[in-house]
Amino acid sequence: MNNPFHFIDSPLLWRGRGRLLLLFIFVSLSALPQGRKLTGTVIGTSKGYDYDRGANSSTVNIRDWAFDGDLSTYFAGSSTSNSWVGLDLKKPYVITKVGFAAGTRSNGPERTQLGLFEGANQSDFSDALPLFLIKEAAPSGEITYANVGVSRAFRYVRYKGINGSRSTMAELEFWGYTSEGSDNQFYQVTNLPTVVIHTASGSDPVDKVNELESHISVISDGGKTILQHDGTSRLRGNNSMTHPKKPYRIKFSEKQRPLDAPAKAKKWTLINNYGDKTLLRNCLAFEISRRMGIGYTPWCRPVDVIMNGEYKGCYQFCDAIDIRKHRIDIHEMDSTCTEGDLLTGGYLIEIDAYASKEPKYFNSTRSTPVTVKYPDDDEITTEQFNYIRSYYNTFETSLYKTNWKDFEQGYRQYLNLPSFQRHFLVGELSGNTDTYWSTYMYKDRYDTQFYVEPVWDFDLAFENDNRTYPICNQTDYIYRTKGSSAGSFKSIVDRIIITDTESGANLREMWANVRYFNGINTEELQAYVDSVADELMESQRLNFIRWPIMNTKVHQNPKLWGSYEAEVKNVRDYLSRRIVWMDNKLKYNVQEFEDDIGPQPEIHIWGRRVFIGGIAGGTPYNVFSTQGALEAQGTSGEEGPLLSPGIHIISINGQACKVLVR
Ligand code: CA
Repeated sequence: MNNPFHFIDSPLLWRGRGRLLLLFIFVSLSALPQGRKLTGTVIGTSKGYDYDRGANSSTVNIRDWAFDGDLSTYFAGSSTSNSWVGLDLKKPYVITKVGFAAGTRSNGPERTQLGLFEGANQSDFSDALPLFLIKEAAPSGEITYANVGVSRAFRYVRYKGINGSRSTMAELEFWGYTSEGSDNQFYQVTNLPTVVIHTASGSDPVDKVNELESHISVISDGGKTILQHDGTSRLRGNNSMTHPKKPYRIKFSEKQRPLDAPAKAKKWTLINNYGDKTLLRNCLAFEISRRMGIGYTPWCRPVDVIMNGEYKGCYQFCDAIDIRKHRIDIHEMDSTCTEGDLLTGGYLIEIDAYASKEPKYFNSTRSTPVTVKYPDDDEITTEQFNYIRSYYNTFETSLYKTNWKDFEQGYRQYLNLPSFQRHFLVGELSGNTDTYWSTYMYKDRYDTQFYVEPVWDFDLAFENDNRTYPICNQTDYIYRTKGSSAGSFKSIVDRIIITDTESGANLREMWANVRYFNGINTEELQAYVDSVADELMESQRLNFIRWPIMNTKVHQNPKLWGSYEAEVKNVRDYLSRRIVWMDNKLKYNVQEFEDDIGPQPEIHIWGRRVFIGGIAGGTPYNVFSTQGALEAQGTSGEEGPLLSPGIHIISINGQACKVLVR
């Protein structure tokens, strides 16, 4: 027999290959430089802290004591918040491992937890990148070693503890070899991307006004990808800014697309989610927004943040709300757009309880506080400001005219009602206290209507507010019962949702459609929550070590659930209760809905072959790729085309359905 594959069975050859393979592994391992224990000039916080005297000291617990080879002597920096200690190696080394031993005071080991090793090529560490984060408290009296896999070479290396720790350490070791290094591998704190910010001053931002010159790095893909760029950082938010874990706004000096975000932009936000112990409420609300069919939903990804050498916890890297492609995609304005069509848009406004703290705001004739977000504060002209103020007033006034429901003359010519309703449903399903405390609306050029999007800020939603807890016990919508409202905006919402009964009927229809077709159901939303919670598991653990508030009520927490898992369960349980509540409120019944809409196609994938039943045979359908390319066609009731593994979109009877072929 002439079997072309016969040689594979040859035991002799197989053994021979095994030997070759073993030899190869042996050679490559021994070729990996292990490095040596490195020496250099000790650098860092110049004074130590003498606990016996309760004073700073130039002779006791100084930085040299972290490198004196004595496990009983330790460094404790004079500053509780900004101490560090390290080595100037005089030339770049690739670091292969670090060693550390806790100080001998009783709290020495716990002070090491979340301490960070960094490497830099600037003596002020403004370009520093993380080498290793100590995740478990290290013992005193012995050196703990950790391998470092970062391939870039650094001249300066250091250890920095978290705030309050004085970076206390009895002994430090850096191991490595001299090399030019490479940018193949960096250190990611957890499975999430790591965002590293170093301000030029070395001090963290403290307000929204001063934009601090910063070096920003985003490490992703397990450390294989790095984006490094200069920019600025400052605080952001209103209430969220008052918590100890601060929210940041970063701005690259040139447009970037970090983490493959859809938008290419300078400005991005790092949302702190301090009062949200699941750390995922905003992500969940954005997912609901997408399923609700809202045009633009902010992009976001969970990340770990390191600021000036300190681990700050799990954050949400998110779009900043601005006007551009893949964000709010409307006409941009400049100072020449002061008349005619050019003056009519685009504008972004915010119904905003905090409007009076903003540089460009007005109170409407019905006393609604409105911030003008775009054009920017420093670029908007008087004509533009006056135009949008006047146009907004026209909209509000139109709600109270005698013919207010008339499509041609009433408020509908100024407000895109479906957009208002979708936004409303996200707010009510999520049970967000703040839906009408802060509400974004935009108006484009050549368009008479305001669109109510994007949704934003869900820390208090999904049963996280003692003022509304338990939300489903309220018999009416949250905005009508316990929700907060900027000025009297609540009465405007009432007018649109309740008084306008046609709008109310549209709302019920919209809810039925998204329930039936758009994946607004308990099972799918709970599965989404579970997938994000899984992704956050390692980072949330570190986050709640850094901010030990799991058993403390913060912000408006209604209850202590006791663990991350129990906090997530609260959100899952809320979703199932709230969907039932909304179904009752909006009179949704799946049976009646199906009777109304008639037979619906049922898509089956058998093997990799499509079969569509549930409707009369002979209905043609198309199969598209996720990029929109036509891949195949078929007819209901008949054996359909064979699809390749992956995601496809099947379009039949004007409906599109995503299918996964395994
Ligand atoms: Ca020592």
